[in-house]
Amino acid sequence: MVIAVKGSGSIDYQNKMKLPARIKLEERKLGREKAHGLAHNGEDRIEVDPSQSSKMRLDTVLHEGIHILDPNLSELKVRAYANRLSALLWKDRWRRIEK
Ligand SMILES: [Zn+2]
Repeated sequence: MVIAVKGSGSIDYQNKMKLPARIKLEERKLGREKAHGLAHNGEDRIEVDPSQSSKMRLDTVLHEGIHILDPNLSELKVRAYANRLSALLWKDRWRRIEK
C-alpha cells in the first residue's frame, strides 16, 4: 500500500481507515485506576496521569493514542510500538516544555 501525505499534512486514506480526526487528551490523577494512562475508545479520548516524568509521559501518550488508533492491537504490540516510538522521539531530543 502506498501512503501519500498531501502538502497540507492531511492524509488521503483517513476515511478509508476510519481513524479519528483527532484524539482528545485530558489530565487526571489515576492513582485509583493504578494506571499512567487510559484510552476511551468510543470517545477517541485519552487520560494521562500528570504525576509522571516527561519521558514516561511521552510513552504513555503514545501508548494510549495507539490504543485509540487501533483498538484491536494486542497490549503487547501497543507496548512495543509506544516503547520504540518514545525512545526514537527522545533520542531525537523531543521534550515536554511544561514539567
Ligand atoms: Zn495498553
